[in-house]
Amino acid sequence: MLSGQPCYGACDLDTYLMKRTDVFVHFGHSPMKNTDKVIYVPLFSNVEVQPIMEEALETLDDPAETEDVGLVTTAQHMNRYDEMTEFLEERGYEVHSRRGDERLTHEGQVLGCNYASADVPADQVLYVGGGKFHPLGLAMEHPEKHVVIADPVNNVVTVADTEKFLKQRYASVHKAMDAQKWGVIFCTKIGQGRWDQAQEILADNDDAYLITMDEVTPDRLRNFDMDAFVNTGCPRITTDDGPQFHKPMLTPGEYEIAVGNKPLEDLSFDTFHGTW
Ligand code: SF4
Repeated sequence: MLSGQPCYGACDLDTYLMKRTDVFVHFGHSPMKNTDKVIYVPLFSNVEVQPIMEEALETLDDPAETEDVGLVTTAQHMNRYDEMTEFLEERGYEVHSRRGDERLTHEGQVLGCNYASADVPADQVLYVGGGKFHPLGLAMEHPEKHVVIADPVNNVVTVADTEKFLKQRYASVHKAMDAQKWGVIFCTKIGQGRWDQAQEILADNDDAYLITMDEVTPDRLRNFDMDAFVNTGCPRITTDDGPQFHKPMLTPGEYEIAVGNKPLEDLSFDTFHGTW
């Protein structure tokens, strides 16, 4: 039996099929929760990381001045994490890494919604991996750190710049400040449900309505006559797809700012903890 559902992470298993099978095999993501029922089969990128790390040395602080560096990557490049560590150590850096929390499987691994592995005693963090999706979240979550991106897939080194991202978030919060009627989205994906958080918002606002859905898409939300939405599911839908929604879409923390419960300075990245 094959699941035909889209799958965005280990937070997103086809529960219908899972309930009806003895064993459920999941490819590509690392375990969010260990269970006898699910077999996780890792899939690793075969791209070399050393050439782009060599280039990234020019953007990192010189180890003679600052030897501490945090090192993070995604599940796809985890097979080369030891190689990355050795590469930096051989050039005089002290590499700091940690496992993060229970949502993450490996030391040094980040998710789009969890950067606990970058909570290390280093002012600079090197992210080795494809795209800007993860390092931008990391830089938002840890604004005090210099986040260097070594992208071996697109063969480019950059520094994470959150300015455009932050402007978009501020704009969405401002647009939502006049909203009367709120749609509070509860995502039914197995690892994305934050029921208590949704209930807290509903208890506090008489003009807020719970909307449950699996896929949260701009098309689906057009069916609802709301002034603004607050998404308690995957934070990346809110932040990365935000401009595509017809009404402002906020994270729970941004909602608190828009309704006046918290000051604008409290704006921060929405991270997700816990398993399913
Ligand atoms: S909640 Fe979103 S960012 Fe987090 S693991 Fe799932 S798909 Fe990725």
